[in-house]
Amino acid sequence: MFNVLFTRLQQGHRTAKYPKQPPVLPDRFRGLPAIDPTKCPAGCRACVEACPTGAVAVDSGKPRVDLGSCLFCTDCTQACPTQALQFSRDHRLAARSRADLLSDGAMIPAGALEERLRKLFGRSLKLRQVSAGGCNACEADINVLGTLAFDLGRFGIQVVASPRHADGLLVTGPVTENMKLALRKTYDALPPPKIVIAVGACAISGGPFVGHPEVHNGVGDLLPVDLFIPGCPPHPYTILDGLLLLIGRLERRAAAAAGAASEAPRGT
Ligand code: SF4
Repeated sequence: MFNVLFTRLQQGHRTAKYPKQPPVLPDRFRGLPAIDPTKCPAGCRACVEACPTGAVAVDSGKPRVDLGSCLFCTDCTQACPTQALQFSRDHRLAARSRADLLSDGAMIPAGALEERLRKLFGRSLKLRQVSAGGCNACEADINVLGTLAFDLGRFGIQVVASPRHADGLLVTGPVTENMKLALRKTYDALPPPKIVIAVGACAISGGPFVGHPEVHNGVGDLLPVDLFIPGCPPHPYTILDGLLLLIGRLERRAAAAAGAASEAPRGT
């Protein structure tokens, strides 16, 4: 018994200091694309041809990645003969609009909810999660946010069991035909005002299932989406960054140095 207490005291406070300190990310983390079009050989389309989801386009010799479709699989970076396209370690990928996910390597623009909703949800946001045909990867990374390392509850954000108790939906998966009605009913059960957050490539665009007759290519055509969080799956810090931006607890500023991810906390 005393050993347990002693060990616990030795361990101290284990919750990460994010957002006051930059997140600690795994070595293999892939974040915001880092694109240098000056390195692109004339007429090269190796990245476009390598991409399994059609997420890369080359316009006037400049590659652009649709983060809403990207699986972060690195097929494009491996195919690139000059390393013109790589992935940085910047985890800040969430956007308020689908169009903002078309990345030329610049920081993704993002803002908070309108003032009225920010006042309502800024200190208390309850979310109901709906897995609309997800593989459980995005769901697992949402679950991780409830662990002591992230402690989502310290920001007033909680995943709740009933849509009647929720302010918004966290949708994962490409929205299969089987889940379409359940998703609609869950959305209708939320008391207004309500928000919708699409988590992961599947929920944003259909991901690897795009165009399949049994899926709806994400939630965007079925419900109004307030926040898009890219990734396959998104890292928990990418999800947390998006949620905090949405409720006005973070502001997005340019990283101080290339590859660094510095956030200015606001009232956390
Ligand atoms: S990392 Fe993204 S853009 Fe590159 S090939 Fe994979 S899915 Fe396509």
